[in-house]
Amino acid sequence: MKVGVIGAGIGGLAVALRLAAKGHHVTVYEKNSKPGGKISEFRVNGYRFDTGPSLFTLPELTKELFDICGESIDEWIPYESLPTNCKYFFPDGTVFNFYQDKEQLTEEINTKTKDSIEDLQKRLDKSEEVYNLSAPVFLFRPFARKLSDFNTPPYKKIAKKLFKLDFFRTMNQANKKDFSDENLIQLFNRYATYNGSDPHKAPATLNMIAHLENNIGAYFPLKGMYSIADSLYRLALLKGVEFCFDSPVSRIITENKKATGITIHNRKELYDVVVSDVDVRYVANNMIENYPLKKRLNKGEPSSSAMIFYWGINRTFDNLELHNILFSGDYKDEFRKIFKEKTVSKDPTVYIFISSKLVKEDAPVGCENWFVMINVPSNSGQYNKEMTARIRKRIIAKINQELDTDIEKYIEEEKIACPVAIEAATNSVDGALYGISSNSMFSAFLRHPNSLKKIRNLYFTGGSVHPGGGIPLCLANAKIVDDLIAEDYE
Ligand SMILES: Cc1cc2nc3c(=O)[nH]c(=O)nc-3n(C[C@H](O)[C@H](O)[C@H](O)COP(=O)(O)OP(=O)(O)OC[C@H]3O[C@@H](n4cnc5c(N)ncnc54)[C@H](O)[C@@H]3O)c2cc1C
Repeated sequence: MKVGVIGAGIGGLAVALRLAAKGHHVTVYEKNSKPGGKISEFRVNGYRFDTGPSLFTLPELTKELFDICGESIDEWIPYESLPTNCKYFFPDGTVFNFYQDKEQLTEEINTKTKDSIEDLQKRLDKSEEVYNLSAPVFLFRPFARKLSDFNTPPYKKIAKKLFKLDFFRTMNQANKKDFSDENLIQLFNRYATYNGSDPHKAPATLNMIAHLENNIGAYFPLKGMYSIADSLYRLALLKGVEFCFDSPVSRIITENKKATGITIHNRKELYDVVVSDVDVRYVANNMIENYPLKKRLNKGEPSSSAMIFYWGINRTFDNLELHNILFSGDYKDEFRKIFKEKTVSKDPTVYIFISSKLVKEDAPVGCENWFVMINVPSNSGQYNKEMTARIRKRIIAKINQELDTDIEKYIEEEKIACPVAIEAATNSVDGALYGISSNSMFSAFLRHPNSLKKIRNLYFTGGSVHPGGGIPLCLANAKIVDDLIAEDYE
């Protein structure tokens, strides 16, 4: 078949590869001049910065793409397991290393928290159980398309254990039950931010995210995060995928409830199948007239966005790891500000990611490349230079206090990204990183499906559609799209 893919984000790249490996003729249209979408990089004066994702989990999903092409991931994207998943700095002065090594972690839990390693293991076992139960039904399959789907083994299995999925409590309620240590509650609540949500509203089902990072492990590619997108792109080229860069698709052509092609630079290109990796709210509002789910999409609460400061730091900090979190003193207020008041807390949680800790070439000798990020509301017109300056000041004050330094002295390169820039770069509406938030127990069911009855031949991948955002879930929905196309046409 002739397949047109719109967008070369991780979802678009993965679908293109999967379909090309099956012998389909695939063309990818990308509005930017390079692949990757939110996975991107830039270089300046000896520094290299990954601009988007920094955490690599479930690497076997990426490996599968190399396997189906008969290639070895180790040759394309060598990666390592991290000894410390993340280093946490709490406002009470506790500094907690989430080691992967069980002995070291036990020591850390025993000496720095009120809970025991057994309490922690119990929480992680529960997270694993929820993941194992829900993954085959909710993460790696499309929403049920017909009634008979509910009569298949994965649905039957889950029907008997629905209560175990923990839909009815929030993440915070579950974590408060499992831990007595306020710091551990905050640490586990943080996983809600991995899909842009509020742990005081998101269902406890999402505690499964902790399983991915802490049971399976946190990893990092030895050539940086961008090497994931770049390698998939180069592999796709090898498999015969054609890429058209600087090619913004303006319309998806539909006729008689079918997608028949796309419009690009006022030219029509016809396809048997069209796959969109574009934020589906953007598609609904701009690319298809009278889009069936437009109202519902525009009603959904957007996930959070990010403000990121990329700093070239002309010294090293031995007390920092690859991933570091400086926690807010009032986490609940931080989320209330983001989702209710659409503003930023005076004391935001600050994430510092330093790839040069592992990838030495990412910074000049004796220097470090800091990616300093806070969670912020999606754009509703509130961002301007003054707000950015205010936020920068708060972040600097927090870093100085926690690390006992004067960080501004060491910043020799700086670039700033905010929701407005994220939207401009990727067409993610309002700069929301993960489409709609998961701030209700029904949100998993409100995500946009991967195909529609009302528009045949059109499929959806990427972070704004089922099952959600983040690299692993985009790879999951790329596989779902591949399976749906096989089911519909083969
Ligand atoms: C700051 C930040 C930090 C993150 N941290 C993590 C993390 O640590 N771990 C993790 O797993 N995930 C993380 N994420 C989320 C992750 O990056 C995304 O979920 C994922 O990369 C989204 O991929 P996608 O397939 O939806 O495509 P996107 O990356 O959204 O790309 C869509 C592509 O479509 C193109 N496009 C849009 N409209 C058109 C058009 N009309 N015509 C042609 N092309 C078009 C865009 O230019 C873009 O290249 C982070 C994201 C950001 C921004």
